[in-house]
Amino acid sequence: RAKATRRGGHVLFEAVIRQELENRLTLESELALAADRGEFELFYQPQVRLIDGSLVGAEALIRWRHPVRGYVSPGEFMPVVNSSALSERVANWVMETACRQARDWELSGNGVRVAINLSPSQLHSGDLANSVAALLESTGLTPSLLELEVTEDILLHDEDRVLAMFKRIQELGVRILFDDFGTGYASLSYLKKFPLDGLKIDRSFVFGLLANSDDAAIVGSTIGLSKQLGLTVVAEGIENRATADFLVSMGCEEGQGYFFGRPMPAEAFDRQFLVAGLDVVTAA
Ligand code: C2E
Ligand code: MG
Ligand code: MG
Ligand code: MG
Repeated sequence: RAKATRRGGHVLFEAVIRQELENRLTLESELALAADRGEFELFYQPQVRLIDGSLVGAEALIRWRHPVRGYVSPGEFMPVVNSSALSERVANWVMETACRQARDWELSGNGVRVAINLSPSQLHSGDLANSVAALLESTGLTPSLLELEVTEDILLHDEDRVLAMFKRIQELGVRILFDDFGTGYASLSYLKKFPLDGLKIDRSFVFGLLANSDDAAIVGSTIGLSKQLGLTVVAEGIENRATADFLVSMGCEEGQGYFFGRPMPAEAFDRQFLVAGLDVVTAA
C-alpha cells in the first residue's frame, strides 16, 4: 500500500518536472523569437538628488513588449534569458541600446548618467572591459555618463578575474555600483574585496523605513558605512515623500522610486524630465 503511494507520488513528481521543463523550453523559444523580432525595450527610471529632487541619472530597465500579454517585467523572463544561450545576445543589446540613448541625451545637451544592470554572462565569458571600451568609442559617449550595476550573485565566481576587469572598466572612467545591497549573503565581504564606486540600498529595506525601526537601523548604518568607505549611496524603492525626507535626514544623497518616477519609455522620460533640453531644441 505504502509502496504504491510512493510510486504514485513519484510519477506525479515526474509529470510536474516534465511540465516545468516544457514551459521553460516554450518560454526560451518565445524569447529567442522576441529577440529576432525586436520585442525588447528599455525603460528608464529617474534617479534624483534627494535634497531637491533634481535629476542625476536614469536606470535602464528591460521590458518585453509581448504581442499578446503586453509589457512583461524582467523578473518573469530575465532568469530564463540569463540561463540560456540568449544571455549574451540580450546583454549586448541592453548595453548598446542604453549607451546610444545616453549619447543621444548627451548630444541634446542633457547629460543624463545612465545605469545598466549587468548579466552574469558578461562577467564570466568574453571581456566586458573591452566591449565597454569599444562601445564608448563607437558611440562617443562620455564615460562618466555610464554606470554599471552588479548584484552579489554575479560576483560569486571568478573573483580575481572580475576584480581585474572592474579595475580596467573604472580606468575607462565608468563607475560600478553594487545593486540590491544587503540582500545577499556576504555583502560586506564584497565591499571589501571589490573596487566599487557605490551601492544601492535594496528596496526591501527602504519600503518599511518609517514603520520598522530595524529597517531604519539597517539603512542608517549602511549610509554611514558608505560614507566612511567613500562610496556613493543610492536608496531604491522610495514611494513617498516621508521616506525621501527620512533618508535625507539620515544623510542619503541619491534615490529612486515611484515617488519620483516609474520606469518609462525613453520618449516619455524625455518629455517628463528633459523638457528644458527639448525647449532648447525647439527654439533652435
Ligand atoms: P533592480 O536593478 O534592483 O531594479 C529596480 C527594480 O525596482 C525595478 O524593477 C524597478 O521598476 C523597481 N522599482 C523602482 N522603484 C520602485 C518603487 O518605488 N517601488 C517598487 N515596488 N518597485 C520599484 P524591474 O524593472 O521589474 O526590474 C527587476 C530586476 O530585473 C532589476 O532589479 C534587475 O535586477 C533586473 N533587470 C532589469 N532590467 C535588466 C537588464 O536590462 N539587464 C539585466 N541583466 N537585468 C535587468
Ligand atoms: Mg539595478
Ligand atoms: Mg536593485
Ligand atoms: Mg533587484
